[in-house]
Amino acid sequence: MPETSPIYYDPAVVPSPFVLDSVAGARDISVLLQCLCCCPAFTKQVLRHQEYMKKSRVGKSILNFVTRYINRSLDYPKDIRRFPSIILTNLMKDARQEDPDSDNHTDRSEQPETLADTLLLILSTIALASHDEATPMADVFTHRYNITCACAKCGGVTSSVGEYAYLINIDSLEQRPTTVEAFSDTIMHSVYTVSAADHYCESCKEPCDGIAQSVLTRSPEIIMYTFDIYNTSTPRECKNYYFPDRIICSVLDSCTQLEYRIVAQVEHFGADNGGHYITRTLHDGIVFCFDGGDSPSCGRFEPTEDTYMVIYHIVQP
Ligand SMILES: [Zn+2]
Repeated sequence: MPETSPIYYDPAVVPSPFVLDSVAGARDISVLLQCLCCCPAFTKQVLRHQEYMKKSRVGKSILNFVTRYINRSLDYPKDIRRFPSIILTNLMKDARQEDPDSDNHTDRSEQPETLADTLLLILSTIALASHDEATPMADVFTHRYNITCACAKCGGVTSSVGEYAYLINIDSLEQRPTTVEAFSDTIMHSVYTVSAADHYCESCKEPCDGIAQSVLTRSPEIIMYTFDIYNTSTPRECKNYYFPDRIICSVLDSCTQLEYRIVAQVEHFGADNGGHYITRTLHDGIVFCFDGGDSPSCGRFEPTEDTYMVIYHIVQP
């Protein structure tokens, strides 16, 4: 049975726009919080799993942030601006703690370079501290696929596995989508070649190229796409990547169509370990544009050569 997403887009619980301190170091966290606070699936899940969040320092500080933010009066509490630094400090403290299941303790304590890496570090740190198989926070972002691999030579099926993904990197796709349908298709299925170096066919009794086909079996509440603007082999001005304002997809064995709409766009200027962000977020039908620590202006979502990430949120079908 395919899994379905229980939480739907609800403008009533999307907070009004806000400004967070955007100091060096905590800038990625600031941008992520701005994006995630216009995703009801995220805030609802944090509030629903409070005991789980409290098991890590970073989880607890995100819970504190969301609680403060949802319960605020019309005047924003002044100290909410400082939360990006607080969350970063707690993230790095957690990440530096020894992980008894890992042989490598050093990688996790290095500050991540990109927004996507920061989100993945937060999710994995929260999950690791919980000592629990359930991963409710990661679930909000997790796609699940069935992947079947067949031998390119004899056509026989050689393996069938399930796989997970948090983010979809547009540059890893062989064809760049340019329509709503093609963009939606990148989530539902893909076909790619597995090189003979990584694929052995028992029927042919030799390494053969494999053809892998992935089919979506679970679609999360929040879908994130990243664009590899840091890859310098293509100039940025050639990277005015298309993205749509909505996505329509369905999971395997379900005729229900899931609709998503864009709720955030992040542009990044400069190198991956520094630079400057412009963040656009959707609040009750209006797009707000954050540029550094200034008050937001009105804006709109549109593809630019500096777009690094776009975020979609599920809409009630
Ligand atoms: Zn074969």
